[in-house]
Parts: sequence; structure tokens; C-alpha cells
Amino acid sequence: MKYVVLLGDGMADLPIPALQGKTPLQAASTPNMDLLAKQGRCGLARTVPDGFPPGSDVANLSVMGYLPQKYYTGRAPLEAAAMGVHLDNGDIAFRCNFVTVEDGIMSDYSAGHITSEEGRALIEALKPLMPEQRLYAGVSYRNLLVLKAGARAVCTPPHDISDQVIDGHLPRGQDADLLIELMQAARPVLAKHPVNLKRIAEGKKPANMIWLWGQGPRPAMPTFQELYGLKGAMISAVDLLRGIGKYAGLEVIEVPGATGNIDTNYEGKVEAALLALKTLDFVYLHVEAPDEAGHEGKMDEKIKAIELFDQRVVGPVIEGLRRQSEDWRVLLMPDHATPIAIKTHSRDPVPFAMMGKGIEADESSGFSEEEAKRGGFGLVEATKLVGMMAK
Ligand SMILES: [Zn+2]
Repeated sequence: MKYVVLLGDGMADLPIPALQGKTPLQAASTPNMDLLAKQGRCGLARTVPDGFPPGSDVANLSVMGYLPQKYYTGRAPLEAAAMGVHLDNGDIAFRCNFVTVEDGIMSDYSAGHITSEEGRALIEALKPLMPEQRLYAGVSYRNLLVLKAGARAVCTPPHDISDQVIDGHLPRGQDADLLIELMQAARPVLAKHPVNLKRIAEGKKPANMIWLWGQGPRPAMPTFQELYGLKGAMISAVDLLRGIGKYAGLEVIEVPGATGNIDTNYEGKVEAALLALKTLDFVYLHVEAPDEAGHEGKMDEKIKAIELFDQRVVGPVIEGLRRQSEDWRVLLMPDHATPIAIKTHSRDPVPFAMMGKGIEADESSGFSEEEAKRGGFGLVEATKLVGMMAK
């Protein structure tokens, strides 16, 4: 049996008045996801345990079957693994976003989705300001800083404070001063850097501040194979997911042109997934674009991202699975909702659909938040899903 998780990051949403009370999943044309729901069985999954922030880290760990209560130490250490940055005992990894702050307001948590190349140049300029210079450039605005301290600061994800005054949201708590000092020290260097001057001249958002958050020490997780007896692969453009994959002992597959954005290489991801399944039992295929559109509050782009996921990932994966000779099961879901109305993640249970060999169909006629409420699986803990699928 082959197992596939198709994860559309942040696809779930709330009813939107401009869509006559439909959600983007309902408004989008998604024949393949609907077919999967119709021929399979739906339900609602709780991906964020009480007391945890509704981040992609916590939610995706849950979907993979890792209890966040046991294994979650923070987002940045997961991303460190993906970036090949080794963490020793005592190391604390931080996500270091490039952000745009205008008049004291968080106007863009991604500095206009700055390119990785531009980001690398800025990171080089900032390195000398950091203790031990352990500052690493990541994909686009997502960088990493490793310190020997900072675990006891309370930090706020920048995408949670879009369009808000940053002052009340700077790091707080015991280790906050050090972090705020580093964030402030970066500002003058960024302000006069040629990369930013050029961005401003081109009408783009400058990366005029760094934002530290998501910190933690390295986690200790059992491998996916130890949990389920399955060998698998992770396909994602996003470091967070690749890092979870590494700690889980999955093969992390590089797909050229996978960007974490709406222009990602969908065909390359599908091809890599189907190829991996020739030798492995399990693939986790993650697409980031619906979440990014949600964070930006762009309804039409979110609908488009969902439709692209449906046409260019869900459809071809099902088709590819049908062409091969082995039995298979697919789990389709978002990790969390990223409602357009709030531009950030919510902790509501998310819809899921499971389809394939031996899975009895329920009454669902399509894939949506509403249909999933009446699904045959009912409300389940997301940490049980892969176990249910692989039973
Ligand atoms: Zn997410």
C-alpha cells in the first residue's frame, strides 16, 4: 500500500460575505478535491492542541502524528534542520524574518517577499552584528539566527501583527533585551544597504528590520518509520516542513523551482512524489501558496491558489496513483485555517478527506469546511490521522 498526504497550507477559511457566505474552498472550482471527498470519507481534524499557537509547525507535526505536547520545541529549530544548521546542546535557534515596518507599523511580515538573492546580500551585511555571527540566509524572507541565549523571551510571529503598531509586540520577558538590541542594531545597516535602496527605487517594500521569533532548542523525535513502520519522503519548498521531515527521518526531496509561492513548480512536485513512491511507502506533499494568500488577505489569490493545487497537484497525483499497480490511500487536508478576514492562522478544526483502497465513502459531495462537519469520520485528533490511514 502507498500512502500520500496532500497538504494545502492554510486552505481552510471562514464564510466570506463577498463570496455570498461561501469559503474560498467552496467558491473555488476544485473538481479533483471534490471527487476525492465524494469517493472517500471526510471529517474534521483538530491540528492545534489547547495551549499551543496555531502555527504551521505545530499543525504539521500533528498531521504527521507527532504529539506537539511531546515533541514541539519551537519553529526555528525545525527550520535549522532543513537549512543544514546543526544545533548543539545549549543552542537556541530563532527565525529571523526580514520585515517592512513603516511609521512604526508592521506593513509586511515578508518584506514584499524579498528574493532569496537579495536576502543573502542583506544577511552578509548583518552577520558581523550578531554574536558568533551565526546568522544564516534562508528562502526569501525566512532566515535563521542561532544564539546561546534567548529561550526565555516571549516573541510574537510578525504575520500575527500585520498592519499593527509593533511597539507592544516586541520580545518580552527575561531574555528580551538582547533580542531587541540585535533587532535595533540591524536597522541602520538595512536602511542604507544598496539592496534596499534599489527596492525602494523600484517601488518595492524594503527589508528595513529583522524580526526574531519562533525560538527553541533542538527537538528529539522518533522517526516516522519507528512510529508507523513506513519509509517516506517530504516534498515542500518551505524549510519548516523540510526540517520536520529531517527530524522524522524522511527523505527530503529537492524539487527545482519549488518556491513556496503561487508560481511554484507544481508538476515537479507531483513528478517527484510519484517517483518517490516507486521505492518508498509514504509521501507528504506540501503546497504553501494558499496560506501566503491568506496572510496577505487576498481573497482572489487564495481561491486561485486553491484551484492550482486542485488542478496541478491533487488531480495529477490521483491520476498517477491510479496508473501504478499498488493499492493506495490519500489524505487531503490543510494544516490549519488562514482566514482572509483575520490574515493569520486560526485554531479551528480543519476539514480532511481520506480516499483509497478499503476506505468506505460517506455522504460528502465535495471538499469543504461545511461538508466536513457532517463527514463520516466526525471530529478527530489530527495526530491519529496517518495511523488511521496506514492501519
Ligand atoms: Zn500552515
